[in-house]
Amino acid sequence: MRLIMVGAPGSGKGTQAERLAEKLAVPHISTGDLLRSRRGDGSDIDKLLSEYLDRGELLPDDVIVKITSDRLDEPDAVDGFILDGFPRTLPQAEALCAHLDEVGHPITAVLFLNVSDDEVRERMLARGRDDDTAEVIDNRLGIYHAETDPIIEYFGDKVIEVNGVGSIDEITDRLTAAVAQVRS
Ligand code: AMP
Repeated sequence: MRLIMVGAPGSGKGTQAERLAEKLAVPHISTGDLLRSRRGDGSDIDKLLSEYLDRGELLPDDVIVKITSDRLDEPDAVDGFILDGFPRTLPQAEALCAHLDEVGHPITAVLFLNVSDDEVRERMLARGRDDDTAEVIDNRLGIYHAETDPIIEYFGDKVIEVNGVGSIDEITDRLTAAVAQVRS
């Protein structure tokens, strides 16, 4: 199963992607985690992190496409994966599909964890982190809608929408049922 998890910041997609990956026994590939693991290694990517990551801005498409493609080519991802945080823009989605078509392993489905903007705002404000001010949250939501909404359209009937409001277990159950539907 080659899955993409899409959802707004604060939608819970990271938590759910991790749980689902464990259930399906495939690697959970989070681009945020991949990038954070490069912190302090002195590489060109490390230098970019302070430029983009710290401001909450998206890295250039070519950089993130290269990092993710390299990760997907590792042996543990050959039979399946769950991508979390990638693709986040239309050019990233196109590059991903081109790469996967080349190796003959197309995306199986896109899981869209749908949570309203109001719910996301409430959750993030409740977290009470210093960088979770109303202004920063609205900025991240704005970027999300502008850059990521077109991805949903791009993947068309591969998209399965799952209601992201409920308990963590309930949502994992919904996602598991959605994936089972694709399998059968
Ligand atoms: P995340 O943990 O998924 O919120 O990612 C943390 C940060 O990493 C983001 O705010 C971006 O700066 C960067 N990042 C992660 N994934 C991508 C992506 N697909 N495209 C561009 N930047 C990304």
